[in-house]
Amino acid sequence: MHVLRGGRVVDVAGSREADVAVADGEIVAVGDPEAVDEAVATLADGEEATEVDATGKVVAPGLIDAHVHVMMDGRPDVATAVSDSDYTASYRAAGNLEAAVAAGVTTVRDLGSRGTLALDAGEAVAAGQIDGARVVGCGRNVIMTGGHGNWFGREADGPAEVRKAAREQLKDGADVLKCMATGGVLTEGAVTGAPELTPEELAAFTDAAAPTDTPTAAHAHGEVGIKNAVEAGISSIEHGTFMDREAAEMMAERGTYWVPTASALRGIVENGVEAGIPEDAVAKAEDAADRFDDAWDHALEADVPIAMGTDAGTPFNFFEDIPRELSYMVEYGLSPAAALEAATVNAADLLGLDDVGRVEDGYRADLVLLDADPTEDVEAWQEPAAVFAAGERVA
Ligand SMILES: [Zn+2]
Repeated sequence: MHVLRGGRVVDVAGSREADVAVADGEIVAVGDPEAVDEAVATLADGEEATEVDATGKVVAPGLIDAHVHVMMDGRPDVATAVSDSDYTASYRAAGNLEAAVAAGVTTVRDLGSRGTLALDAGEAVAAGQIDGARVVGCGRNVIMTGGHGNWFGREADGPAEVRKAAREQLKDGADVLKCMATGGVLTEGAVTGAPELTPEELAAFTDAAAPTDTPTAAHAHGEVGIKNAVEAGISSIEHGTFMDREAAEMMAERGTYWVPTASALRGIVENGVEAGIPEDAVAKAEDAADRFDDAWDHALEADVPIAMGTDAGTPFNFFEDIPRELSYMVEYGLSPAAALEAATVNAADLLGLDDVGRVEDGYRADLVLLDADPTEDVEAWQEPAAVFAAGERVA
C-alpha cells in the first residue's frame, strides 16, 4: 500500500491537488488528505502504508504505447536478428519490457513477434516473474506471401487463408490482430506504399475478429492501403505515412485511430547509412518523412483520433526512449494535453482496456511521478521521478 502525498493529479480530466492511495494494485482513493486517510484506515487492516512525498510533483497515468516489438532491440539492420534463437529474442523482450516500465510506460501493445513470444512475455509480467510493462499482443502478423515482415509474419493468401491465419492468433491468445495492408520500410524489396492484402482479404481479417470484438490493426503507409483497411473496418491504421485528405476524412468519420509512430521514421532518418542502417531502408524512410508532415496536416484538419505508438524495436527506436514520441507529436501540432490524451485514454480505448489511462478510483495503479505538469511541458514525461506498475514501485 502506498499513499502519494501533496502532489497534483494530472490526467485527461485536468489538473487538481489530490493525494492518491494505492492498494492491491489499484487506485483506491484520490482526493483531499482527510478523505484519503479515511480510505486508507478502512483498507489498511493494520498494514502500514508507505508514504511517498509528492510535494511539488505531478501524479499522472502511466503511458501506453500502442505499437512496439518486444523482441527487437533497435539495431540498425533488423535482418541480422533473423538468425537469433527464440531464447535470445525472449531475453531481449524481458529487457525491453523492463526498460519501458522504468521510463514510465506501464502498458505496451506488441504488434508482431515470433510465435507467442510477446504473449508469453505478457504472461510472465502478469505473473510477476519479470518486471516490466503490461503486454497486450497480437501474436504473429498476418501478411501476404512475400509481404512486409515476412521473416516473422504468418503468410496467408485469399480470404479463407487470411481468416484461418487470424483465427490461429486468437487461438494462441492474441488480444489484438495485426495485418499488413501495404509494404514497409524495413523489408528489402517491399515498396513502402504499395497495397499488400487485398480488400477481400482485409474484410476476412476484420470479420475473424468481429465475434469476440477483438481490436484490429493494419500496418499501412500508402493511401490505397489505408483506405482499404478503413473500409474493412480496421480499428487502427499504423504509421499512415502517406495519408491523404480523403483517407483522413474516412478515418475521422469512422473513428479509426491513427498510430503515427513518428519515432520509427526519426530513428532511421536521423541515424542513416553511417550508423549501419541498410541504404534501401534509409532511402524509403527519407521519402516517407516528407510525406509524413502532410499526413499530420490532414489528420489534424479532419480531427482523426490519435493513439500514441512508437514502433519501438526498429532502428535506433529504443524502449527507454518511448516518451519522446509525445514530444514528436507536439512538434507535429498536437497540444501537450492532446498528446497526454493520445498516450493514455485514447490508447487505452484502442487496446480495449477500461482500467488504465486515468488517475481515478478503481483504475489500475499504473502511475508516474513527474517534476512538472506534462500538459504544460511535454518534456515532463522524459524523466519520471517514480513509476508504479499495478501498485508496485518499479522505478
Ligand atoms: Zn511495427
